[in-house]
Amino acid sequence: MLSRPVSPQLAPVLPESVTVRAPAKLNLHLSVGARRRDGFHDLTTIFQALSVYDEVTATVSPTLSVTVRGEGEGDVPLDSDNLAMRAALALADVAGCQPAGNLAIRKAIPVSAGLAGGSADAAAALLACDALWGTALDRAALLDLAAGLGSDVPFALTGGTALGTGRGEQLLPVLAAGRWHWVLAVAAGGLATPQVYEELDRQRDGDPPASNAGLDVLINALRSRDPAALGPALSNDLQSAALSLRPDLRHTLAAGAEFGSVGCVVSGSGPTCAFLTVSADHAVQLAAELTGAGVCRTVRAAYGPVGGARILPAGD
Ligand code: ATP
Repeated sequence: MLSRPVSPQLAPVLPESVTVRAPAKLNLHLSVGARRRDGFHDLTTIFQALSVYDEVTATVSPTLSVTVRGEGEGDVPLDSDNLAMRAALALADVAGCQPAGNLAIRKAIPVSAGLAGGSADAAAALLACDALWGTALDRAALLDLAAGLGSDVPFALTGGTALGTGRGEQLLPVLAAGRWHWVLAVAAGGLATPQVYEELDRQRDGDPPASNAGLDVLINALRSRDPAALGPALSNDLQSAALSLRPDLRHTLAAGAEFGSVGCVVSGSGPTCAFLTVSADHAVQLAAELTGAGVCRTVRAAYGPVGGARILPAGD
């Protein structure tokens, strides 16, 4: 068992507190294969990390605990169902150390919104506890642990723009030239991911899923710096299922198109709708128009790609 060092002469001094921030994700392309024997579906997805971040501060404490402040704080569990706590427990288990510390989560990523906020918190907690406890796991081991915690957790560690296969946890970087400006229309209430997959299976009624049509077009568009090329290439197999469970999202999508977005897609399992714009100014303008139209609970302008989870310098 590792424990915090008693003598500064014998071991490196470990920090009292470590803060890590981790990004939300958007799926620019999501094709869902058939349901596998383990209950998961094979996915082919293009992730992009967006400039909406949760922060996790891990601080020395005799026991393991979680506190949550910010966006959707009342909807986040504080026990071992919390993905940040699960990440800390998994790390302690692998490293053979005591899982002790307070994890203070500051949420900006809306909960159950298809933006993988819980996965971001898990990735942030992994990095924060690794530094707090001095476990110093290498990148491959961290990615392995992350994959065991959830399909989107490895991407929250790596960030950028990436092709995800398997359950989404096998990642390859994809070249995305320039910066893309998005508006996120966040709906009132969330959608439970398993329910959206069930609805998709119901809609397919045993028919084989469609192929990965459009993936090459999207990957080329990502190199073009041209929003007019990327917009029409956005696609999500879960979108029809999300719309069937939340028909109100059709109004949100229609409003974004009416106000001049160059492309739109439901993010992951929804219900957040993401709109592509041509510039930062255009994003601010579209965000204002969507807010005025009252077609969602709240609106965020964001850009991508951004990097994955990273430790913030002390004092930030
Ligand atoms: P998924 O990653 O399953 O597609 P999502 O991106 O739509 O989900 P999340 O915000 O990650 O949404 O939350 C999904 C579920 O995970 C919610 O039921 C929430 O209560 C639970 N959860 C556990 N830990 C966290 C956390 N740290 N932050 C947010 N949600 C969490």
